[in-house]
Amino acid sequence: MSVRPPIVLCFSGHDPSGGAGIQADIEAIVSHRCHAASVITALTEQDSRNVKKLLPQNPADIICQAETLLNDFKVSAIKIGLLGHADTALAVHDIVRQCPDIPVVLDPVLAAGGGTELAGEQLISAIVAKLLPLTTVLTPNSQEARKLAGVNDLNACASLLRAKGAQNVLITGSHEDSLLVHNRLFMPDGLNETFNWERLPQHYHGSGCTLASAIAALLAQGLDVFTAVNEAQEFTWQSLAAAYLPGKGQHNPRRLFWMDA
Ligand code: PLP
Repeated sequence: MSVRPPIVLCFSGHDPSGGAGIQADIEAIVSHRCHAASVITALTEQDSRNVKKLLPQNPADIICQAETLLNDFKVSAIKIGLLGHADTALAVHDIVRQCPDIPVVLDPVLAAGGGTELAGEQLISAIVAKLLPLTTVLTPNSQEARKLAGVNDLNACASLLRAKGAQNVLITGSHEDSLLVHNRLFMPDGLNETFNWERLPQHYHGSGCTLASAIAALLAQGLDVFTAVNEAQEFTWQSLAAAYLPGKGQHNPRRLFWMDA
């Protein structure tokens, strides 16, 4: 019998276009030779341009599905993506607080790349109060970091988000007006590191999901946070560099790029 791959439990939304959400997670996790277990937090209606409708799932069902899996599987990392409703955040909190030894990667999805808001004030408050204290690596883009922290300066955002309980904060810089993309990792004890990436030319759908899931998979394999964050960025950049246009909107990361090598 072959060796069991590490298991990543995802709490994610479904994007029928296949660019973001759980499909992005599964592709990124499988690319890292891990197994993805998936609890769907919300259905959506969307295409490669924008999200048209958000359909949060029943919080009690989310809890049951996760408990059933956790009673059967040894989960090595948890990835949290789109929540869509404050009650969903509370349901996920209910589960994750029972797993103190499992690393948690939280991608705070607050808006779609096409512009649709995916989180109101109540959800933002629930993420900050309930989920940040359980988070090993928080992966906001710069806009999400500002919304969560309520301040403009990104260093100050990171300090505030760490003070609210997130152990490590990776703020991605693709939304900033800089020649290179600067992703900054803020770690305990005041340590931080800036990663500089060549800016790619397109708009991409699901890049945040790809990055967060890759980090979760690498943590599930037992890598430390710094190495996981470093390698996951390289994987995401390669996926974006090989992206394709599935429709009339944003590009889709090619997360299985290595199959064509
Ligand atoms: N839909 C779902 C289900 C998502 O999880 C996300 C992001 O995580 C989005 C849409 C938005 O993706 P993007 O910001 O890449 O457009």
